[in-house]
Amino acid sequence: MEPATDMTDWLVERLGRSRGLTILTGSGVSHESGVPTFRGKDAFWEKHRVEELATWQAFEAHPELVWRWYDYRRRGVAEAQPNGAHFAIARLEPAFDAFVLITQNVDGLHRRAGSTDPLELHGNIWRARCTREHTTTDLLDCPLRELPPRCEKCGALLRPDVVWFGEPLPPDEYERAYEAARNCDAMLVVGTSAMVRPAASLPLVAKHNGAMVVEINVSFTPISALIDATLLGRAGDILPELADRVLALGATGAARAPSRVHVR
Ligand code: NAD
Repeated sequence: MEPATDMTDWLVERLGRSRGLTILTGSGVSHESGVPTFRGKDAFWEKHRVEELATWQAFEAHPELVWRWYDYRRRGVAEAQPNGAHFAIARLEPAFDAFVLITQNVDGLHRRAGSTDPLELHGNIWRARCTREHTTTDLLDCPLRELPPRCEKCGALLRPDVVWFGEPLPPDEYERAYEAARNCDAMLVVGTSAMVRPAASLPLVAKHNGAMVVEINVSFTPISALIDATLLGRAGDILPELADRVLALGATGAARAPSRVHVR
């Protein structure tokens, strides 16, 4: 069967009957809030490719440059507001027996929209980590007072507490995300190019284990042909309507049976 591209009654009903819903988001979900994605026309900052700044090698060679870029991004995020897609995801959360939100985003907009416990696979732009002691600390000054910032305790350089290209994901978060993908009945994949691994493999884990997997994106991605449906359009337009229709069904199977998703 060809993957669907419409928000059909079948799709809405299957979502509404699901006990365990897992949602995976990428930078596209924050695009309508004015936060740039890494690919496409936003791919450059002051003539540097952003994907080349988000690496340990770039930080080691030019810590001040990398922190200047993060300071710029943090200022953009501070001015941004969650959009309709973030709010729709927060509205869906209490309607499901087992709900897990996995995000690759570092901007913290899901929490600001009311999501209670997003699994932040790639860290958070408002935290920093000491390069000597590896302790993490909230770093909320915006703009930053000192560039590059240093650890208050030992004076070593701080780095953003985010996962850079080429670095492993935090094992605990990834294990929880993997379990949520493996055990859900339905997964929504929102605004991710599905090119950054291993997060990009989570929808395929869900599909392989029998879940309905639906993608919401402005364009097709490498996983589109492998999943049940791609709803083409802006997340801020599609998700509020999808949430309204699913919630109108009185989601979910929550009361009827134990969940397949185990959330720690
Ligand atoms: P990506 O930049 O690779 O892809 C963005 C995807 O979003 C694309 O497929 C694009 O078609 C889609 N998109 C753009 N606007 C959309 C909209 N309005 N509605 C629906 N879809 C839309 O992003 P990625 O897959 O998340 O991977 C890039 C990495 O960059 C991640 O590791 C992430 O941590 C990091 N990142 C995070 C932020 C953030 O926190 N907001 C911003 C930029 C990059």
